[in-house]
Amino acid sequence: MSTPTPEVYEQGKGMDAHNQVMREIRSEKEASYDPHQPTRVWLDEDNTPDGVKESLTIILNTGGCRWARAGGCTMCGYVAESVDGGSVSHDALLDQIDVCLSHEAENADGPAPLIKIYTSGSFLDEREVGAETRRAIAETFGDRERIVLESLPDFVDREKLTDFTDEGLQADIAIGLETATDRVRHDCVNKYFDFADFEDACSTAAEVENAGIKAYLLMKPPFLSEPEAVEDMISSIERCADVSGCHTVSMNPCNVQRYTMVDELHFRDGYRPPWLWSVAHVLEETADVDSIVVSDPVGHGSDRGAHNCKECDDLVQKAIKDFDLRQDPSVFEQVSCECEATWDAVMDLERGYNQPLTR
Ligand code: SF4
Ligand SMILES: [Zn+2]
Repeated sequence: MSTPTPEVYEQGKGMDAHNQVMREIRSEKEASYDPHQPTRVWLDEDNTPDGVKESLTIILNTGGCRWARAGGCTMCGYVAESVDGGSVSHDALLDQIDVCLSHEAENADGPAPLIKIYTSGSFLDEREVGAETRRAIAETFGDRERIVLESLPDFVDREKLTDFTDEGLQADIAIGLETATDRVRHDCVNKYFDFADFEDACSTAAEVENAGIKAYLLMKPPFLSEPEAVEDMISSIERCADVSGCHTVSMNPCNVQRYTMVDELHFRDGYRPPWLWSVAHVLEETADVDSIVVSDPVGHGSDRGAHNCKECDDLVQKAIKDFDLRQDPSVFEQVSCECEATWDAVMDLERGYNQPLTR
């Protein structure tokens, strides 16, 4: 893990201050979870460089992210779902995989060609998922086409990727980059690594045959106004698409999760999740970049998720999902609503000091 510079550890400032607040907020969590059960599992379909595929998405419960224990990111509530007190054993992790396979057998027509594994941390961090478990999971899914694994960039190395590619899988590493702007990643998200670390992970993947990177970006972290957030996303998508090895960008609107700084700000009227119009606008503006760009607004239409006026939320969400599969910006020409005028005003008038202008 890269070490924050001494300046940011100056007592009470920068990341030190963020981490202190985040630790206090997270310490309010009380729930504990069964290490033999995945956090979540579901079936869906996704756009991949080889076309749209049926997918099985697994959120493995691995004991949570190391960075979250130090304090963690301002919007991330995942650690509140992790197992108390640390790591999960090899057997328990494989039990979780079995639960997911049974779920698939009961609910899908056949085995999904695409497997996506998230861990609320880093699948490639051996403190979360040891080498033996990683290889067993690679073997279990060796008959599928493609696997997506979530990891911070520090843990991406050649050997871990070839565990999967040697099984005949196309391996994609999903990296929560959040933004290409280091200042925003450090000061608004409280995430410690730099864009250069992401570029290093991409070049590692580019050197392994059948490996690639999927960048996850966060639309509207706290402390950015709506127009600042939109501008930051457009430039972030463009910068990611230019990095060799990064073939997909998933741009996801920030939603308000429990036990996070974003939740505290939202509760005190200091944060509004992005407008769905902003999401649509960013997708339209970046439709011609040399990467697949997708977005999956979680909790759309609710106060805690990306939303417009409530009347048009489902329609715009549907257009976004259509765009994800077809990459055709004309899907947005078919949606309109009176609230677009309010969004226009927000884009003109909202600044850091007066945000959020609307609820
Ligand atoms: S967003 Fe990722 S790195 Fe940040 S605290 Fe959550 S799991 Fe850890
Ligand atoms: Zn509307």
